[in-house]
Amino acid sequence: MSALWSYLEYCLTPDECCADIFSAPLDELIKNGVAGILLDVDGTIVESGMSEVSEEVVWWVRSLVEQGLKVCIVSNSRQKWRIAKIAEKLELPYVCHAAKPLRGGLRRAACLLELNPNQLTIIGDRLLTDVLGGKRLRMFTVRVEGANLHGRGLMAWLVRLLEGCFASMHRSRFSRL
Ligand SMILES: [Mg+2]
Repeated sequence: MSALWSYLEYCLTPDECCADIFSAPLDELIKNGVAGILLDVDGTIVESGMSEVSEEVVWWVRSLVEQGLKVCIVSNSRQKWRIAKIAEKLELPYVCHAAKPLRGGLRRAACLLELNPNQLTIIGDRLLTDVLGGKRLRMFTVRVEGANLHGRGLMAWLVRLLEGCFASMHRSRFSRL
């Protein structure tokens, strides 16, 4: 039981926690050999369900590329038109309907960037999709404080409760928050 708990804790504990994408430790990541960034969309670079990208985000993504990082959008959204519009604005490749935390979509993104998963960092707001999926492929994981999980009903409530429990554990470990 303790081995299972340890594995669960490993999978749901991001390597870094940040208030938002702008405070992600890019210099450290580059210094540690990270060559590419996978970017979640909803709750990470835009508010959930939105398709307008702020100029601040455009500037931030541009600075990633100028620093030599390869960047790809990876979203679980099925709204291809919306993710394509965001990707076009940011001039990035994208994978939508990625089904994180399954590994297929993340592997597709790694292929698009022509990098191995262990050269990548995933930045996202959700423990049970972005962090869990990234950890399963041995990526470096950065969790940003995003918008709360959308949706109502028992399942959404349970997911929110579980993520809240793990997030509060992380807060006690990371001084950034
Ligand atoms: Mg998200």
